[in-house]
Amino acid sequence: MITFPLSISSQATEVKILKQTTQKDESKFLILFVKSGRIAEFGAFHYNGRDHICVSCQTGCAMGCRFCATGTLCFSQVENLAWEEIVAATKLVKEISFPTSFDVVASFMGQGEPTSNPIQVARAMYAIADEFHLALSTIGRIEPLKRLQTQFKIYELTPDMQISLHYIERRKRELYMPGTKGQITSEVFRLLENYAEEYETKIRVNYVPFKGINDSQEEMEKLAKFISSHPNFYLKLGEANPFYNPHYKMWFLPSKKNCYEILRNKIPVKKFHSQGSALWIGCGQMIALPVD
Ligand code: SF4
Repeated sequence: MITFPLSISSQATEVKILKQTTQKDESKFLILFVKSGRIAEFGAFHYNGRDHICVSCQTGCAMGCRFCATGTLCFSQVENLAWEEIVAATKLVKEISFPTSFDVVASFMGQGEPTSNPIQVARAMYAIADEFHLALSTIGRIEPLKRLQTQFKIYELTPDMQISLHYIERRKRELYMPGTKGQITSEVFRLLENYAEEYETKIRVNYVPFKGINDSQEEMEKLAKFISSHPNFYLKLGEANPFYNPHYKMWFLPSKKNCYEILRNKIPVKKFHSQGSALWIGCGQMIALPVD
């Protein structure tokens, strides 16, 4: 039985917009102030016929992916958001961005790795499940993913699951996504396979090719082979905004190679363009911008 209170205290609803930027296509980037003086960033955009809110569950991310602006925030700045804060912020963003929409996807893909904050993420999802379609993306760490899936069982949640793969070779993935170090990818995928089978769903595999880093013909071929050997997975090829990582003095630029064409001839693949390049609502690109 679920016992935590579902009414949100007035303290938790002290969520307010610090900054909001809107682009021509109506994509919005919102910086919200939540209780305890913390800042969380959310995005809102229309994609593929549906309204989406990019929900954050932490005030940064400690996973340190090199291509990710959020990941450059130092560890000391990363705090878990409480479920009430996540809910209040998500509802506020909906009210501002899609006040009359009945088909809004709350995608837990903003700042933070959801498996690092499993209890609060599951509670927040449970609290908004009647109002939003739920989706979640993870980098896939075995034990944290198991803990999150346990919470899903408790709250009877079956969000659409996505994994951020981005590198098909393990050593490279560990280098560019240090949070995946020591993880056995096949075991992570087995957990996701089981989830897909149990709930008769498909797992989305996200891959963003960066120029000269993970866009070789060989990597595309390995990726196609991997996807075709997992019938419950499908591939979404993303295009991120250019990002310079000052810690590694390294640019991450969208690949100009036609990875999509290479893959399309071998497997079904969808394409995703980051919404609002001026807004930086792209994959892993939320970072606390100065608030004027
Ligand atoms: S890509 Fe995701 S998991 Fe990696 S640092 Fe960024 S927010 Fe964290």
